[in-house]
Amino acid sequence: LSLTLLPGSASADAPSPRDPSAPIDKRVAALVADLTLEEKAGQMTQAEKGSITDPADITTYGLGSILSGGGGAPDPNTPEAWADMIDGYQARALETRQKIPMIYGADAVHGHNNVSGATIMPHNLGLGASRSPELAKRAAEVTAIETRATGVPWTFAPCLCVARDDRWGRTYESFGEDPELVSSMVDVVDGLQGTDLTSNTTVLATAKHFVGDGGTTYGSSTTEDYKIDQGITELTREQLRDLHIAPFETAVDRNVGSVMPSYSSVDHPDDDTGPVKMHANDELINGVLKQELGFQGFVISDWKAIDQIPGDYASDVRTSINAGVDMVMVPYDYKTFISTLISEVNAGRIPMERIDDAVTRILTAKEKLGLFDKPYADRTHIGTIGSAEHRAVAREAAAASQVLLKNDGDALPLASQGKLYVAGSNADDLGNQMGGWSISWQGSSGDTTEGTTILEGIREVAPDLEVTHSKDASAPTDGHDTGLVVVGETPYAEGKGDVGVGGHDMKLSAADSAAVSKVCGEIETCVVVTVSGRPLEITSQLDQMDALVAAWLPGSEGAGVADTLFGDVGYSGKLPVSWPRSVDDEPINVGDPDYDPLFPYGAGLTTD
Ligand code: BGC
Repeated sequence: LSLTLLPGSASADAPSPRDPSAPIDKRVAALVADLTLEEKAGQMTQAEKGSITDPADITTYGLGSILSGGGGAPDPNTPEAWADMIDGYQARALETRQKIPMIYGADAVHGHNNVSGATIMPHNLGLGASRSPELAKRAAEVTAIETRATGVPWTFAPCLCVARDDRWGRTYESFGEDPELVSSMVDVVDGLQGTDLTSNTTVLATAKHFVGDGGTTYGSSTTEDYKIDQGITELTREQLRDLHIAPFETAVDRNVGSVMPSYSSVDHPDDDTGPVKMHANDELINGVLKQELGFQGFVISDWKAIDQIPGDYASDVRTSINAGVDMVMVPYDYKTFISTLISEVNAGRIPMERIDDAVTRILTAKEKLGLFDKPYADRTHIGTIGSAEHRAVAREAAAASQVLLKNDGDALPLASQGKLYVAGSNADDLGNQMGGWSISWQGSSGDTTEGTTILEGIREVAPDLEVTHSKDASAPTDGHDTGLVVVGETPYAEGKGDVGVGGHDMKLSAADSAAVSKVCGEIETCVVVTVSGRPLEITSQLDQMDALVAAWLPGSEGAGVADTLFGDVGYSGKLPVSWPRSVDDEPINVGDPDYDPLFPYGAGLTTD
């Protein structure tokens, strides 16, 4: 790639044609008209920060965007270090001929979850259980403030996936199995974007993954085509529209700034086209999203997703761009992406109008965010990251997301005096209660950041209670008349959480199962709480339990779970997905013929 300007383009010292007093569309049009093909290709490129070995490349290639993929935190992982890192990249971007700011992106999917000390919200499945778009919106407002304060103006959230099969490792990123419920939670887009994207309290949102990511078929075959994450969604056009496109229609109505296509493919059983990768799907991206729904923002590819399109890399590039992808999350070899894109345009295989449309959409987003005028991190609110006020919102959201599934003899709420025996793998594990996408991509067990475990929350909410904590329930139970067993999953993200992959099976571990049997067998009143990214198969032990609560992945504020256990906040959550009797009953969704779940969609008892 040569940096020399194309003949006929503006010279290096020509003044920018961007007139800050003109309306945004005029500003963008003037700038696009002035850019060389090389500069346009740079704008359409998103590199992973770790792949930029020479920061001068940001200027040389005019990279339009950089991301922190899979955590992607600086060392040390502090809010200030994030802002310093991003400002450093921005300074390089502003050295380009037309001083076009880059836009930094990160996965702030439940709070600014990659940043140590940030407020970690419940994952979306819990927010869906709360049935409170208002609360989800407030949580998103907190996320936006904490995210923007570190210099990140763009989040790859919310996931508007409609999770139809809970064996999918991304089920917890979904608000639920019902498109109406998911659509109702699109208020989070308003919470993230606010009414003014130039504000230091808002971020550009991304509706993902368009479309059908939660509807893939879980086949018995072991071929790649039948894996559940990144698999194939086999539905008629009408079914796809009703089940999966509907929430995106709502998001487009709310002016969501960007949309990310899904790794998965769509296959219509009523025609013989065969599966088409979403990143190559002209009918759905150009046709439905942009033309029919009128999406005005820009389409950002998923991580290295164009590489999965059949054919060589040149074909991946032209097929995805021609299908309507505007910016590619490359994320590593940006030089090859840029040179390939340029060759494809020069060879006439990608029309220049398509390139201009893509760059117009990208620059419009940068203008709307005010990045040309204020390219650097506005750290005004950096001190509020992880503040008591923000954590109070996360705690409220955690409490509202609790679903009470069984409560024989009014076992709940618990007495805040006397003795309580606490056991189980997830009673005192911050990492497990936050799940995946927490500090790192996959998340991990243990004290990975600041927060309160459920056990710590219990001690805070009921300080007079005498608590015996024994994770494996090996401590003697005698003397106790109430036991609490907090069971569940360890963290995972994406396909690594698919049932059958990486050891996840939607069942209780042997240790948790034994703890339930022991505590419930020996102690008169026994309460079980599941901390997991989806329903777990608990049918065979349900009779042993007096009470059962689904806590989902409540985030950094375990005190929210304790608030409901002790009745400071009443239970009000409703199941966002159907709870199967057996994992083998998946997929199971309300409205199925012969629907026979253990607990139906919408179940949830209430307490005052
Ligand atoms: C995920 C996206 C995410 C992206 C960037 C991908 O693997 O599918 O949801 O936004 O990585 O981290």
